[in-house]
Amino acid sequence: MEPAATETRTLRNFVGGGWVDAAGSGTLDDVNPATGDVEALVPLSSEADVDAAVRAAREAFPGWRQTAPQKRARAVMALREALWANHEQIARLVTEDMGKTLADARGEVLRGIESTEAACGIPHLLKGENLEGVAGGVDVEMVRQPVGVVGAITPFNFPAMIPLWFLPYAIACGNTFILKPSERDPRPSELIFELIAEIDEIPPGVLNLVHGAHDAVNGLLDHPGVDAISFVGQASTARYVAERSAATGKRCQALGGAKNSLVVMPDADLSKSIPAIMSSSFGAAGQRCLAGSVAVVVGDAERQDEVISALREAALELGVGPGDAEGVEVCPLVGPEARERVVGALERAADGGAEVVLDGREASDGGPGGTLLGPTIVETPDHESEIARDELFGPLLTVVRASDLDGALEFVNGSRYGNAGSIFTTSGDAARRYRYDVQAGMLGVNIGVAAPVAWFPFSGWKDSIDGDLHANGGDAVEFYTRKKVVTSRW
Ligand code: NAD
Repeated sequence: MEPAATETRTLRNFVGGGWVDAAGSGTLDDVNPATGDVEALVPLSSEADVDAAVRAAREAFPGWRQTAPQKRARAVMALREALWANHEQIARLVTEDMGKTLADARGEVLRGIESTEAACGIPHLLKGENLEGVAGGVDVEMVRQPVGVVGAITPFNFPAMIPLWFLPYAIACGNTFILKPSERDPRPSELIFELIAEIDEIPPGVLNLVHGAHDAVNGLLDHPGVDAISFVGQASTARYVAERSAATGKRCQALGGAKNSLVVMPDADLSKSIPAIMSSSFGAAGQRCLAGSVAVVVGDAERQDEVISALREAALELGVGPGDAEGVEVCPLVGPEARERVVGALERAADGGAEVVLDGREASDGGPGGTLLGPTIVETPDHESEIARDELFGPLLTVVRASDLDGALEFVNGSRYGNAGSIFTTSGDAARRYRYDVQAGMLGVNIGVAAPVAWFPFSGWKDSIDGDLHANGGDAVEFYTRKKVVTSRW
């Protein structure tokens, strides 16, 4: 007998402390990238759905704002405990929904937990400043107050960590919050909200979840009841979100895309540098905003050839396959169209005279989901070409040559992006010069993925951010609070 067909469930929004069906019509498929299976349907929430969440968040705001900072910190501690107790389950869902390897997913969840740990220090972080006696009997005091209702719009590539960059700090500061996760992989957010629903210290309406795509985003951006927007995604979306937020007077931090370079100096220890570059360029199939997507190989032709050949040899050793399989380092891309985008860029580069050092199509024809692509290395003499300058967000490492550090820096700083970058060297002098002159927010010295721990800002420059304040650390507290300065005479 045929097994009964099970109906694919439609995700629900979490509003005012309860799960509700979205009123908006239409759904998108939530697909497991490794298998191509549809795991759930994502409702396309409408502006009315967003409005319901904003009303719930506004209603909860006065009471939450008046809750003592120590008590709000305890609520975040309770969230931290719930995340910790369920971190393996969240990580497995990240692998299933987004595609990355389990090891990577576990790292992502731990990084998200780290943000909740940093936000637990909020009573200390919220403390203001004062200055006595600025005139006879006159004192000045600065206090921090929450901004109100915060909307967060997040990307597919870190479906657990990036919501947790924002959510714990926003509520710890006394704001209420609405999350619109990526429509491509929203189930880790759903699981996090299932945990939140069980936490008594977080009252109804303080944290809300609205699924959907562009209409839900526009609903948040245009709503007069939303005071601040935290966004992470592509640079073009970041610019759009920043401009549309500004039109309605909202505070906005919009973190955008990247094209990060890894400078390999002639004195670099290749036994350590090459594995770091492999993980930076091909981990998560290159779908990280900190991925090293261009190797700038410095030195004479003989040394450059040695490095390029070592990159190729190491990449040939990487396992390609589904994220939950043993020995896999290069996971599926998020969807078949992402694979096609990378392959299209590879073909255009080859047609334009670039040398294909390693063609990832030889490692995989796409697999069951049409999403697998082996590590791909392309060397281009054209430093302004698409593969040298545009974010491709796939397992494609572009190689450019530079004769010295000046030439390398000229290439690196020629990027429109400034998210991250690394140098591999044994020379303190070269490392210092690099660190001083590079126009990017997050640097690694002999480290491939230089992700700052949560107590520091996660900071890009140039087109990698619209807005001034970054995610995490002191910047998060700065973004989620308004300063008030009181001058008193008694
Ligand atoms: P994306 O811009 O396509 O989507 C991000 C969010 O914006 C999603 O929630 C989506 O629903 C919404 N959105 C997309 N297009 C929209 C539109 N036209 N109108 C309204 N809403 C829209 O980004 P993505 O592909 O999900 O994520 C990958 C990108 O995120 C990469 O560019 C990566 O570099 C970047 N990223 C940056 C950082 C950082 O810290 N700077 C971190 C992670 C990812």
